[in-house]
Amino acid sequence: MLRLSLPVLPYSYDDLEPFIDKKTMASHHLNHHGSYIERINKELERTNVIESDEKKIVSEISLYNDTIRNYMGACCNHSLWWFGLRSPKQQDGSQPSELLLKEISKAFGGFEMFKKKFEEEALKLFGSGWVWLLKRREGLAIGKTANQDNPLMDILPEFQRGVPIFCIDMWEHAYYLKYRNRKKEYLNAYWHVLNWKVIEQRWREATS
Ligand code: MN
Repeated sequence: MLRLSLPVLPYSYDDLEPFIDKKTMASHHLNHHGSYIERINKELERTNVIESDEKKIVSEISLYNDTIRNYMGACCNHSLWWFGLRSPKQQDGSQPSELLLKEISKAFGGFEMFKKKFEEEALKLFGSGWVWLLKRREGLAIGKTANQDNPLMDILPEFQRGVPIFCIDMWEHAYYLKYRNRKKEYLNAYWHVLNWKVIEQRWREATS
């Protein structure tokens, strides 16, 4: 039977300073993600879910109840979030490769244009949710989901769906301690801690 556990992060809580502060990292990982793990495990057990593939549950989420939708989504989204980040001191993964840059330019007209568009979409998101870079059949696209929905979920309308390449957590718990209501500063900071090596790998897997 599927039981999720809190992933061990590939960096320590203060490694993303000054862009994402230690206090936020610790409470986000231990308290928020930790409680999502507890809730999903309880619900998987209570409803006798036999499917053991997390990704399969997410992509066939119409077969499950709303508690599973929310908490399985939360667990998947947070794993994508944590592993898409790196310490700003780590050179490895600090820049997208030429190949990925070309793909981003093809879709958005250039890297700066992409960042601008991504931030605009994030600022337009009302309430709690996520903003995504997605791989779709036609190429890269920006997507938004509410609450803890994941773009692989089969219940979402076509325009929200795609294969996640990276995401930003737009729940207040992800930035409020440090940035308060200054969402734009949080968004600006985010580019400094992206792990383009992991992102590239996800993009290659989604493309192959
Ligand atoms: Mn979060």
